[in-house]
Amino acid sequence: MQYRNLPSVDSVLAAPGVAAVAAAYSREWVVELARGELEAARRRIREGGEAVGVGEIAALVCRRVEEAGRAEPRRVINATGVVIHTNLGRAPLSHAAMQAVEEAAAGYSNLEFDLDSGRRGSRQARLEALLRQLTGAEAALAVNNNASAVLLGLLALAAGREVIVSRAEAVEIGGGFRVPDVLRQSGAALVDVGTTNRTYLRDYEDATTAATAAYLKVHASNFRVEGFTAEVGAQELAGLGDRLGVAVLHDVGSGSLLPTEKYGLAHEPMPQESVRAGMGLVFFSGDKLLGGPQAGIVAGRRELVGRLARHPLARAVRIDKLSLASLTATLVHYLRGEAEREIPVWRMISATAESLRERAYGWKAQLPGADGPARYSVVESRSAVGGGSLPGETLPTWALALDASALPGGAEGVMRRLREGRPPVVARVEDGRVLFDPRTVAPGEDAELLGALWGLSESGLSG
Ligand SMILES: *Cc1c(COP(=O)(O)O)cnc(C)c1O
Repeated sequence: MQYRNLPSVDSVLAAPGVAAVAAAYSREWVVELARGELEAARRRIREGGEAVGVGEIAALVCRRVEEAGRAEPRRVINATGVVIHTNLGRAPLSHAAMQAVEEAAAGYSNLEFDLDSGRRGSRQARLEALLRQLTGAEAALAVNNNASAVLLGLLALAAGREVIVSRAEAVEIGGGFRVPDVLRQSGAALVDVGTTNRTYLRDYEDATTAATAAYLKVHASNFRVEGFTAEVGAQELAGLGDRLGVAVLHDVGSGSLLPTEKYGLAHEPMPQESVRAGMGLVFFSGDKLLGGPQAGIVAGRRELVGRLARHPLARAVRIDKLSLASLTATLVHYLRGEAEREIPVWRMISATAESLRERAYGWKAQLPGADGPARYSVVESRSAVGGGSLPGETLPTWALALDASALPGGAEGVMRRLREGRPPVVARVEDGRVLFDPRTVAPGEDAELLGALWGLSESGLSG
């Protein structure tokens, strides 16, 4: 009977590695982990597997203990070429933004203390000054994320009244942000106008009544409608709002302060354009094309921003000091005209195909030759911007391609082993090959990536 070959809990606890962790952590917890691993081993036997020895169970218990003691999320190497990868943490921070976090985190700060007067100050004051400068808005406010910024805006300005939205813009952004649901949560009634493909100014005008609190325009970040389409531009809608006394709100999503067309991409709406067009409020994320921490930014007319700042929900969604510090440092890069050089997402977007080609060939030159099981080549490919911005838009790139057909498990086996590495590497599979795109791999990570790839050849030779 296979079950009888399983070790006892006591023998697992007596194994050298387990004895050490049981002494260092709580003994009850380690006993519980050992029982759990033995139960899992019994289950595998029931499903036709073999019994495992004390050494293997002990190793599994030690691994669980190690995992529990590790800070999460862990750093991973993003070789997918997707610059704003939502599952991998969106925008990496600049060096200056990291330093700002460290300073704000490690000690005390003037978070809400006015150093001039020695009295209580506003955590938003300096940030607001920067945002006014960069967007041209009269006033600005930052909160936890863009979803909460939009919710706060609707609650403060439209609860119990109506908000008019084009049918083309009553969209789901991903990660559970659906415009109709957010509106419902705010207590405002959605009045959708126009059709999925065409909405005109008169649609908004005809639907406007005494109950209308706002027009909400939403940038449909992650999809595109092509062909017979019409939408009302920001300026036209702002003009109508002014004429009829309706607040006009614009959720631009990714918050690109730089023109994306400079890099051969479609134009992504920019907050400063929206402000210039006369929108009452514009909402955007801090960790998409802005390239900063998770945050939601509201910029616009002083009276409207003030109503949001005074609403009770503002306290519930307020920005924390670490995000505030890194957001401010990120915005300073734009003020200094150094965003492309200092902010990682812009450095990656602006990397030239030529420089990426050079890096891919540089990697290949340091890897095993074609006589091994792992065969590498350099191929032309496309990187994506991601993060729900610029749907279908890609940047030309050169990637290292691994023909994994001679390796155990093929491309999927390689992807799995890379995910198990330290640090884990996430790549992408294209036409059965594993592609490593240098665009999203920081130069400082080259050695670790190459180490992981050498590891594959070694496991491939033995397996
Ligand atoms: C991404 C996005 C959101 C949600 O922003 P978070 O910062 O993730 O909360 C809302 N609206 C639009 C148009 C977006 O693109």
